Amino acid sequence: MSEPDPSVTTSGEVTGAECPYCGSTDTEREHPCGPSRCQSIHYCNACLQQFKKFQ
Ligand SMILES: [Zn+2]
Repeated sequence: MSEPDPSVTTSGEVTGAECPYCGSTDTEREHPCGPSRCQSIHYCNACLQQFKKFQ
């Protein structure tokens, strides 16, 4: 129940989504603007691309 998870941040948000363009995990989650809450928008700081991620 206490296994370490480096992807967990203190904010509780799920971050570090892998960019499908460059594979970087230096990404930020943006506010979802789609009709479904199951879809989130992420922004890659490495290649400056936006990508959607389904949860
Ligand atoms: Zn990228």
